[in-house]
Amino acid sequence: MEESSVDLNVSIHDVFEKAYKRYPDKEFIYDGYKRLTYKDIKQMSDSIASAFHQLGIGKGDRIIACLPNWHEFLAIYFAIAKIGAILVPCNTRYRVEELSYIVANSGAKAIFVVEEHGHFHTVKSLMESNESALEMVFTVRFQEDGHHSFEDLLKIGQSKLPPEVSIDPKEDVFSILYTSGTTGLPKGGMLTHLNFVHNAACTVEALQCDENDVFLVVVPVFHVFGMVPSILAAVTACAKMVFMEQFKAEAVLKMIEQEKITIHHGVPTMFILELNHPQFKSYDLSSLRTGIIAAAPCPVEVVKKIRNEMGCNITISYGQTETSPVVTITSFTDSDIIRSETVGRTIPGVEIKVVDVNRQTVPTGEIGELAVRGLNVMKGYFNMPEKTKEAIDQDGWLYTGDLVTLDEQGYVRIVGRKKEMIIRGGYNIYPREIEEILYKHPNVVEVAIIGLPDTVLGEISCAAVKLKDGALETEESMKNYLKGKIADYKIPDKVVFVDELPMTPSGKIKKVELQQKLKEDLQT
Ligand code: ATP
Ligand code: MG
Repeated sequence: MEESSVDLNVSIHDVFEKAYKRYPDKEFIYDGYKRLTYKDIKQMSDSIASAFHQLGIGKGDRIIACLPNWHEFLAIYFAIAKIGAILVPCNTRYRVEELSYIVANSGAKAIFVVEEHGHFHTVKSLMESNESALEMVFTVRFQEDGHHSFEDLLKIGQSKLPPEVSIDPKEDVFSILYTSGTTGLPKGGMLTHLNFVHNAACTVEALQCDENDVFLVVVPVFHVFGMVPSILAAVTACAKMVFMEQFKAEAVLKMIEQEKITIHHGVPTMFILELNHPQFKSYDLSSLRTGIIAAAPCPVEVVKKIRNEMGCNITISYGQTETSPVVTITSFTDSDIIRSETVGRTIPGVEIKVVDVNRQTVPTGEIGELAVRGLNVMKGYFNMPEKTKEAIDQDGWLYTGDLVTLDEQGYVRIVGRKKEMIIRGGYNIYPREIEEILYKHPNVVEVAIIGLPDTVLGEISCAAVKLKDGALETEESMKNYLKGKIADYKIPDKVVFVDELPMTPSGKIKKVELQQKLKEDLQT
């Protein structure tokens, strides 16, 4: 394991304070609504921190922020960091059931909501039913009688300085971050100040970021990808950020040109949609320097196109919420092949191993589950002791549920999720391998391979394919394309064509939902 050079005694507040002191008047954030400097956000977050203190919110209290990519999120983020409270970001698309789950599981004392989706009313009824620990609802960019708005908090806080709170970066949790819920109910990973600071610093180092960079933040701020390699990495580098509330391919292309974006983080689908947009060539994307592509398997073809057609020297990273998120990342000094086909090597301060079903290390190069230990690993899942015990063993190894191979040089290749492996008549099929080949097909935009129950073989495989507009393909033509390229048993038993694949807001294909739908379709 490479030692980390990051100062381990620094809190998130310290990172922000440092950037603010160096560049008070530098533009820090543009969210399509306001342009604000580091000083503006510093003043806002101090006021919010003071207001929290006056309202009885303090160290260890959980505060939910159910906000889109708006600048207010930053003021809340750094206010919470200052007073040692715990930020619980929440997916803005959540509805009653999901929101109630997060409120109950986190035991939050306060919540920020926006007007959309009737979240205010959901939260109010939770408060009235006395089933939650919620005491306060704060409204953002709208007003409700009897409740403080974000603007009210700024006013309340202006009269008094915020309290000075001592923080132990190693021990104190900064955020309970819920996983995407791709494989089950979202779990709240407890991440410390150190987890955040270290991971952001490693991102800055890997991407060689500095104060001249402009980060595009179109991944949601409520996801770990937005929280750490976007927001905190930008602050670590004293850079500027551009928030976009929604992903729309053409709007992104336009924003890159307009704001001269240098760092474009995203999930594979975002890049796929940008590259396939009919107006792609009419925008000037020459400011793009690099960015991280992660969160889901990145087809090699797509990685190559981002480099060649977008001119963006993209970096691949692998991680998960539980690991703050970065575990491995490719380096600018790696060869092009390594930088398209692997997710790189571990960041400093982190070690990995690959294990079999009995958690014994497998020989180099063999497929197994990736386990991680080090400065990026969460303290555990909040309020889920059993899940924590399953995930982290007594020696501090976190088992990721992802299947990988590790080569002699330490490069990791993602094979797929353990839960997505298909066992067809006794043979293992790893969906990713087949998806990679289908991504090379000129008429394929997106594809997902899933398993379906079968009375004879146990499971069979099915490809759900989204074709280019106007393209004509058949089940037979798709199967023929794969013939000779892979073993027969890996050729999907069924191919269905879909208009859209169901996605999570963090940009992953919802394979469980897709599987359910295809099962139902095939029964009828
Ligand atoms: P849940 O844990 O609730 O089922 P989730 O695992 O999708 O949801 P996240 O923490 O957002 O929640 O995602 C982490 C997962 O995303 C990893 O475990 C891995 O499966 C996948 N992933 C992340 N980066 C990559 C990558 N570069 N290549 C392939 N898969 C990736
Ligand atoms: Mg997960």
